[in-house]
This record gives sequence, structure tokens and C-alpha cells, in this order.
Amino acid sequence: MEKREIFSQVIHMEERIGALHDELGELKEQLAMLIEENQALSLENQHLRKRLDVKEEARLEMEKLQVNKKPKRTSVGEGYDNLARLYHEGFHICNMHYGSLRTDGDCLFCLSFLQQK
Ligand SMILES: [Zn+2]
Repeated sequence: MEKREIFSQVIHMEERIGALHDELGELKEQLAMLIEENQALSLENQHLRKRLDVKEEARLEMEKLQVNKKPKRTSVGEGYDNLARLYHEGFHICNMHYGSLRTDGDCLFCLSFLQQK
């Protein structure tokens, strides 16, 4: 191999190494951008999940409240109906004589109790 040929080969190799070095630099930059983007996305994802959890918790809480409300309402109504029936069957439902038989007709305490409801 002639000296000139070897020299031109070395120069050619140097150029290729330079090009590879540039390419490597570009890849490094892209990788850095991807890592940054990935970090931002996972942060956003975390944030959105938290908001979703809060929403879901609030929804479940509302559901629980609504489920709890319904039976309470009917039980208050039922309680009132039971007391009214008890009164009309001739028993006191007032605090004064609760459960004892009404012997003197209507009781004002019972009636005022019924009207409160
Ligand atoms: Zn009474």
C-alpha cells in the first residue's frame, strides 16, 4: 500500500468518525428530549389520576349519602305512621304518658306531637 493511499484512508476514516460523532450527539439530544417529555407526561398522568380519584371518591360519597338518605326518610315516615296508628288505637305517644292507654279521649300532648311531624 502506498503512503498516499494510507493517508487518504485515514482521512476518510476520520471523516466517518466525525460524522458518527455528530450523529451520536443528535441522538443524545433526542434522548434527553424524550426523557424530559416522558417525565412531564408521567407527572401529568399522576396529576390526572389524583383528580380522577378525588372525583370518584366524591361520587362514591354522594352515592353513599343518597343511599343513606332514602331509607332514613321512609323510616321517619314509617315511625310517624306507627305513632299515629298507636295513637288512634288508643295509646299515648306523648312524652308524658307514652305507651299507656288513653282513657280521657284526645290528649293535647299527643296531638301537638303528631302535628309537629
Ligand atoms: Zn298523650
